[in-house]
Amino acid sequence: MPPHPETWLLVRPEGLYCEPADLFIDPARAVPRALITHAHADHARPGHGAVLATPETLALMTRRLGEGRAGLSQQPLAYGESLDVNGVRITLHPAGHVLGSAQILLEWRGVRVVITGDYCPRPQPTCVPFTPIACDLLITEATFGLPVFRHPPAEGEIARLLRSLAVFPDRTHVVGAYALGKAQRLIALLRAAGYDSPIFLHGALFPLIEVYRAFGQTFGDLRPATVADKAALKGALVLAPPGAIQDRWARRLHDPVLALASGWMRVRQRAKSRGVELPLVISDHADWDELNATADATQATEVWVTHGREEALIHALASRGIRGRALSLIGRGEEDEGGGAEAEAVEEAA
Ligand SMILES: [Zn+2]
Ligand SMILES: [Zn+2]
Repeated sequence: MPPHPETWLLVRPEGLYCEPADLFIDPARAVPRALITHAHADHARPGHGAVLATPETLALMTRRLGEGRAGLSQQPLAYGESLDVNGVRITLHPAGHVLGSAQILLEWRGVRVVITGDYCPRPQPTCVPFTPIACDLLITEATFGLPVFRHPPAEGEIARLLRSLAVFPDRTHVVGAYALGKAQRLIALLRAAGYDSPIFLHGALFPLIEVYRAFGQTFGDLRPATVADKAALKGALVLAPPGAIQDRWARRLHDPVLALASGWMRVRQRAKSRGVELPLVISDHADWDELNATADATQATEVWVTHGREEALIHALASRGIRGRALSLIGRGEEDEGGGAEAEAVEEAA
């Protein structure tokens, strides 16, 4: 009998620990050896010893955290390549969430475990597409793990934004988008929809755009949005971190239309309480149907659920004969969609 993953994948205060490989996955505090799914702040903490991740994630971590704080040593592992660590075979597969985001496949003594990290099964131009990986145990996120969360097609949300620009040609449209992943995705969607005017960016969004560009992505004409040049921004599209759309920075623009791109915009109250006039339901996470469909597609007989609404998903899985377990990992919250990364990026620009 192969050893049950419960005996070698342990929940420790630092996070999920793979004992035979002696490393933590996305640990919440600094550890000697970390395997990182992606560069969002709640997964990629500063101060680790050795960091193993995709080359893209390592580059994003270094840009966000600074040289040295993104691991004393870094080891890149490209999608599809495998590495043997004390008999544990580690392979990274695309997660479709942000640049470099990976699902982790661990194989040990005949047992296959997949850790999704955050993932998005809908293809987007800024990420290598997600595919479900067959496994015995699936460890999945559940950020939007309630039946109410069904994300509409992003193209329709972009069309609403472009319509608003056409209807209010004198107003500056300010769209809140997290600095890592969402901003790049929005720009790519806008370009795919045929919007080829310059797009103006809050200064906090440029550093990570540069990393995307270094990996070969193009975004068309991007310019800095300076409030001093308010007249030039009349009728323009401005992207800014979500924090910035609520402060004086955005209010000083010309008669702004405040928009916010997030899966949470499905909840009207959230948009209202943040003063968002144009909520755009655009997410980098799986929605309820996708969480369920992915679990089924992996053919896992057991699913552990991390940060999000564990109970609803576990209940739905149980009704299909899949054993579920809530993993309460410290340091993951519903702020995710990269909230932490965005807060830091704002500080960087200040
Ligand atoms: Zn994330
Ligand atoms: Zn997350």
